Amino acid sequence: MRHYNFSPGPATLPEAVLEQAQEELLDFHGLGASVMEISHRGPDFMALAEQAEADLRELMGIPDNYRVLFLSGGASTQFASAPLNLAAQGRPNIIDSGIWSSKAIDEAKRLTGVHVAASTKDGNYARAPLQDELVISDDAAYLHYTDNETIGGVQFDYIPQAIIGGQDVPVICDMSSSIMGREMDVSKFGMIYAGAQKNIGPAGITLVIVRDDLLARAPKAGIPTMLDYRTMVKTDSMYNTPPTFAWYLCGLVFQWMKRQGGIPAIAEINQRKAAKLYAAIDNSDFYSNPVELRHRSITNVPFILADESLNARFLAESKAAGLLNLKGHRSVGGMRASLYNAMPEAGVDALVDFMKAFERDHG
Ligand SMILES: *Cc1c(COP(=O)(O)O)cnc(C)c1O
Repeated sequence: MRHYNFSPGPATLPEAVLEQAQEELLDFHGLGASVMEISHRGPDFMALAEQAEADLRELMGIPDNYRVLFLSGGASTQFASAPLNLAAQGRPNIIDSGIWSSKAIDEAKRLTGVHVAASTKDGNYARAPLQDELVISDDAAYLHYTDNETIGGVQFDYIPQAIIGGQDVPVICDMSSSIMGREMDVSKFGMIYAGAQKNIGPAGITLVIVRDDLLARAPKAGIPTMLDYRTMVKTDSMYNTPPTFAWYLCGLVFQWMKRQGGIPAIAEINQRKAAKLYAAIDNSDFYSNPVELRHRSITNVPFILADESLNARFLAESKAAGLLNLKGHRSVGGMRASLYNAMPEAGVDALVDFMKAFERDHG
């Protein structure tokens, strides 16, 4: 019996997708072998990979002048790959809005000079920096931001922009925990990347969507082959053996998303899910969320119990009620409910009902 799983990542997957994978597991498309056991270069896997990219392009409206890569190494590897490939002629400008952007800054600093374009650290990351607070350096190679801070529950409600010397500075976004959760105009970005294990699929695969012209910025030498975007573009992300099973599952999730009506339909449900949970938090003195209204995340909702001594009890009782993995990140404390695309609205209803009952019993 499946429970409602609020894990921040690896996160819940659509039940229909898991069922389809189970059905096809032993015998993929009549091959007499699992999709895990066939060559990534054979026609069957190649067809699957092409379909996954086509579905992703359709769902996100990715323009033709962008390449789509399916890589390994997680979003954390992109913290290094982005500066290696795209910052040969200048410094990364990075917006600091929480723990994940701090990690991106630390990693870039190992490789190159970095300019922090704005930070909300002093305010304990209770909001994202605003457009008019950004200070861009004259030598900006790109502007990097983290659309949704998965740990702090802080989400940008705008796409940052920068112009230096009359030129648009390419915007690079770590979209790991918010990609495909709401509509985004891909043409506004130089590059988008995301680990799959939050809103797309299982762990082990990372999406990179990069605009063609930026590939020419890479230095001729000095980038390890596996981290060089040009290698991966040339080889259709198959320079080495890619994570084939994870790739396959992402493809199934894209098809599931299309059946739901695509990103606009899913985004509408996501808005409703988040609104219900924040209302339950705001309408009580028992629960609270520290993030400024306009920057509250729709995918990761941290909340604190007024009486922290009830934390262990909340977790034990919620688990017994079939609501899994609500423990907050150790740096924030309290609880966190992650409401990715695959979390049904009924799961949020069940969580809200539980929270009200728990408050009645212990408030
Ligand atoms: C989870 C997460 C990461 C790290 O992803 P890995 O795939 O584990 O490397 C980076 N950025 C954000 C915003 C995340 O939520």
